[in-house]
Amino acid sequence: MIDARKVLPRTSPLLTRPRRRTSDKRTGIEQANRWIDSVQQPTMIEGGCLCGKIRYRASGAPQGAGYCHCRSCRHHTGAPVAAFAVFTAEQVQWVSGQRTRYESSPGVFRGFCGECGTSMTFEANDGECDLVELHVSTLDSPETVPPNEHTHYGERISWLRLVDDSPRYPASMK
Ligand SMILES: [Zn+2]
Ligand SMILES: [Zn+2]
Repeated sequence: MIDARKVLPRTSPLLTRPRRRTSDKRTGIEQANRWIDSVQQPTMIEGGCLCGKIRYRASGAPQGAGYCHCRSCRHHTGAPVAAFAVFTAEQVQWVSGQRTRYESSPGVFRGFCGECGTSMTFEANDGECDLVELHVSTLDSPETVPPNEHTHYGERISWLRLVDDSPRYPASMK
């Protein structure tokens, strides 16, 4: 990786351009607050895999919801973009069946049904708690958890056209 600060002259517009990340971040928080205010937060959601072997229940409101455009999520789902409802591990109960977990990078697990192959989770520790991100498409009522941000937007497939005005982060939100 080339360090731009060493390579570019001090007057380079690339260095003096306003840092968009700060404003994006603020917009993201505003958007997230609007989302929390405007969306009828589900108190309990249920879902499962295509064959029905695995069923889950998540209690309480999700911590957030968003799209991920990263290559790993695209491969795991076989879809051009993934959408997640974020919960803490304590909120999620596996009602029937057990997901198979694949460690896609150290400490990051992808859950799926070993029978029908449905992609079900992204699981990792964010530094504070264990998170279980459920694929929104596996919810019984996916309309109740609308995604409100795009992460890893820099990795998106260019022909995918999305018209929402949710914030777009080149990598993760952090
Ligand atoms: Zn299944
Ligand atoms: Zn991803």
